[in-house]
Amino acid sequence: MVGSQLMSLSERIVRALARAEATRIALSKDLGVSRTTLNRALAGLMEDGFVKASSRSDGRQGRPPESLRLDRSVAYTAGIALSKQVGRGVIVNRVGEVLVAVRLEVAARSWCDVLRELCGVLLAEARRVGVDPRVRSVGVGVPVPVSGNQSVFQCARRIVGEVFPEVGAERCCADGEELGRASECSGVEPMGTRELRVGVTGRSTAVTIDNIVTMAALGEARWGAAMAVPSLLYIQLSAGIGSCVVTPQLVTGGVVGAASELGHTVVPGLPGTCYCGKVGCLETVASMSAILKASGADSVEELAGLLVEESTDGSVHRIVARAARAVGLAAANAVLMTNPEIVVLGGPLPREVDFFVSEVHRSLNEYLLPALRWDVNVVQSNMDEWGAARGAALAASQLLALGDAERILGWRA
Ligand SMILES: [Zn+2]
Repeated sequence: MVGSQLMSLSERIVRALARAEATRIALSKDLGVSRTTLNRALAGLMEDGFVKASSRSDGRQGRPPESLRLDRSVAYTAGIALSKQVGRGVIVNRVGEVLVAVRLEVAARSWCDVLRELCGVLLAEARRVGVDPRVRSVGVGVPVPVSGNQSVFQCARRIVGEVFPEVGAERCCADGEELGRASECSGVEPMGTRELRVGVTGRSTAVTIDNIVTMAALGEARWGAAMAVPSLLYIQLSAGIGSCVVTPQLVTGGVVGAASELGHTVVPGLPGTCYCGKVGCLETVASMSAILKASGADSVEELAGLLVEESTDGSVHRIVARAARAVGLAAANAVLMTNPEIVVLGGPLPREVDFFVSEVHRSLNEYLLPALRWDVNVVQSNMDEWGAARGAALAASQLLALGDAERILGWRA
């Protein structure tokens, strides 16, 4: 997904070693860098325990060649995804593989309380399964807009500082504030995600915060349905409808930190008034709640059952097809502006209702440019319910990867 020219050398070493063990000579040849440059980047990775060296005698005289391998048991970042119903937390290794995973019902508590409990449960589970939980960075996806939402930042800062006390990437704040003092930085936001750093006993913990839809889109881009493509438009269809475009090294969270509000684009001909105050928003016909209300079903599973019982020209089919066509139209407008490789539909509806994805696909392509015979593929999300938590861990990793790139460039200078 991320072009190698944009990836830090540390990241390229990690990915090479994830495929197979290698010697320093082989690595420097494979990656096209000098031994000196390679060794600089390796020193950091080895100091942090992500890369281990071992020497095996090959039967010949002299010192046996040193073989480098990735230690997949070492924790790197944590990802937390809080939806309105459930919180999920993961701790991942240097290549994003899940080492620890926990889940918690939200049940009408403040998400700040849920975040605190979830972090505690995650740490306890890490200790139980024998994973050292000292992660470098924590990514948090929340179900609310983050920018200008000071309570979100304050809560996350306090909790991460308390729960992960010995954690931290040694990175100075962008504005040069001294470490060791809790401080929020208004530094660069390279990934579109909002970061802050927490000073804890002379170190700082990098925390990346963004909307949960953005985190889910990142997970999808790295490990899911969009793994092999350079760009995607991710649309999350659940209680609301959020969207996010991911291109290499960049997610669009927008300036207000809401996942882009595809759900509030107006679709011609829709008569309903949206809770936002406008008439004809996509969410008035295509959100999970709107579809359930119109069809009389209590859950998406019940809706799927009704569709099976009913003939294809029945009323429930018409409700779902109208939703799919509206999503297709809104998505087509987004595609005309952003030109992504594919469109990925996340959430329970595309998963449970088999014709939904194909109906969105058909509708979307109708609204593109007919003369171009332009066909943008629409697929169902390929991630399970852990996608957003893994995406949050990835957002935290990307922040660190960028830090590595800066550090190596700094050494060169
Ligand atoms: Zn609206």
